[in-house]
Amino acid sequence: MTTSTMSSRAEIYHCPFCGEEDIRPHSATTGEWECRACLRAFTVTLLGLIQPPTGSAGPADSPASEDLS
Ligand SMILES: [Zn+2]
Repeated sequence: MTTSTMSSRAEIYHCPFCGEEDIRPHSATTGEWECRACLRAFTVTLLGLIQPPTGSAGPADSPASEDLS
């Protein structure tokens, strides 16, 4: 498995808006998709890699949320 091929290409299998599986490439541009069920066109962009969680703290339990509570 090479990581270079997945840097700019992402495949989705479900529409993020309606959840249907009728997803097709919207154009020749990589990352553009369209849903034939809800007729939405959208893009999928890779922002980058994240660090795998190592501690026991949940991803939603950040110290920054202390101000809200
Ligand atoms: Zn849809």
